[in-house]
Amino acid sequence: MSSTAKKTSRKGAAKKTVKSTIVPDMLEANMSIETNAQLAARRELAVPRGVASATQIYAKYAENAELWDEDGNRYIDFVGGIGVLNTGHRHPKVVAAAKAQEDQYTHTSFQVVPYGPYIELAEKLNALAPGDMPKKTLLVTTGAEAVENAVKIARAATGRPGVVAFTGAYHGRTLLTLGLTGKVSPYKKDVGPFPADIFRAPFPSQRDGITVEDAIIGLKNLFLTDAQPERIAAIIIEPVLGEGGYTPVPFDMMRQLREICDEHGIMLIADEVQAGFGRTGTWFAIEHSGVVPDLITVAKSMAGGYPLAGVIGRADVMDAMAPGGLGGTYGGNPVACAAALAAIAAIEDEGLLARSARMGEHLKARFAEIGARAAPFRMWDIRGLGAMVAVEFVTDFDTAKPDGDFTKRVIAHALKRGLLLLSCGMQGNAIRVMVPLTASDEIVEEGLAIFEAAVLAAVADDTF
Ligand code: PMP
Repeated sequence: MSSTAKKTSRKGAAKKTVKSTIVPDMLEANMSIETNAQLAARRELAVPRGVASATQIYAKYAENAELWDEDGNRYIDFVGGIGVLNTGHRHPKVVAAAKAQEDQYTHTSFQVVPYGPYIELAEKLNALAPGDMPKKTLLVTTGAEAVENAVKIARAATGRPGVVAFTGAYHGRTLLTLGLTGKVSPYKKDVGPFPADIFRAPFPSQRDGITVEDAIIGLKNLFLTDAQPERIAAIIIEPVLGEGGYTPVPFDMMRQLREICDEHGIMLIADEVQAGFGRTGTWFAIEHSGVVPDLITVAKSMAGGYPLAGVIGRADVMDAMAPGGLGGTYGGNPVACAAALAAIAAIEDEGLLARSARMGEHLKARFAEIGARAAPFRMWDIRGLGAMVAVEFVTDFDTAKPDGDFTKRVIAHALKRGLLLLSCGMQGNAIRVMVPLTASDEIVEEGLAIFEAAVLAAVADDTF
């Protein structure tokens, strides 16, 4: 790292300017200097259009909650690589742990020559996960892979094929997980058929007037009409719907799901890929409901920016698969395991669970102010658990029609002003906050000020 980059560390990073002092040094240190536009032109020819990017900026350097692009522009990062950076970009402890591991060995394949960091991380995750029963952990590489394996394990443990997922769910882009994902465009378009024995139950929705009671009736009806409960291996649910809109599962619903699973011998899988590791103020979002799932899928913020995912679960269930049935060449990569142990230690040492809860309260209060001031009758809902917060935009309060176009414009205006935002929700009309929990109050405030300016600009587009 250049000396200037070192100086502009967490404490001293540039505050208001768009051009940073870091980038010229970083560019000097880099032989191939390219602009955003040059990379975009090369990408057009080299990368399929199916891999879409929400922005046209290309990353050059990032630290904690700030990112600089190839043109030298600075951004406050409220996206964190889609919920991966609860401990921020390049947390010093995470980077140091990964580097130390790189000096020892980077890959042996756990299935050939196993290693300590995998065991240590599994022990840590078993201890952190809810429930005082014995637990075991499988490590893989991506969230979708974790979900695939959780389903395999549930099938092996129950000897049943069926899986129930919910409307608005997102569980990944592989073929099995796409079958579970409850959104056609863009994910499921043109790539079916999907695996059999996947059933969909209604997720409660204030907008659609679906109460918890209705949702549970819907699930019970599913058992009467299409899905014999004795043939269902698992019910999979995100304790806070992620891509689907940052909507927490009402605790009462989660408790009823647990009862239904117990009644029929069904495994309850909590998909914590996006909600885990402090995002909601607890290690796992399901803890808020007091429910103990049989299996938990994890990824994203677990490893502070390294590709790592896992399934944590009841030891007896996790042992259902025969030796050799689980794994993959890279699963539980040692560098990623070392990074994860450091990221988890950072969450513990820096009190990030409590910070998440505080940050969530603050974000909700500030969004309420901003909504009332900058866009009266457009910000229809502010919701979430801990710092897993989203705001939802509508055309007006009377019709409460989702306004994805307005939301897109807020995001575009924010980007121009130096704030990275990402939408979520079935109609793309919510903006979710995934700012690192390590971000300083000043940076969060700076981001919120840009957010307000962006909302005002989007309202002005409508007026003129
Ligand atoms: N489950 C949930 C809840 C997710 O949010 C995601 C990713 N957004 C996935 C699974 C899939 O994870 P990955 O993209 O790492 O495959």
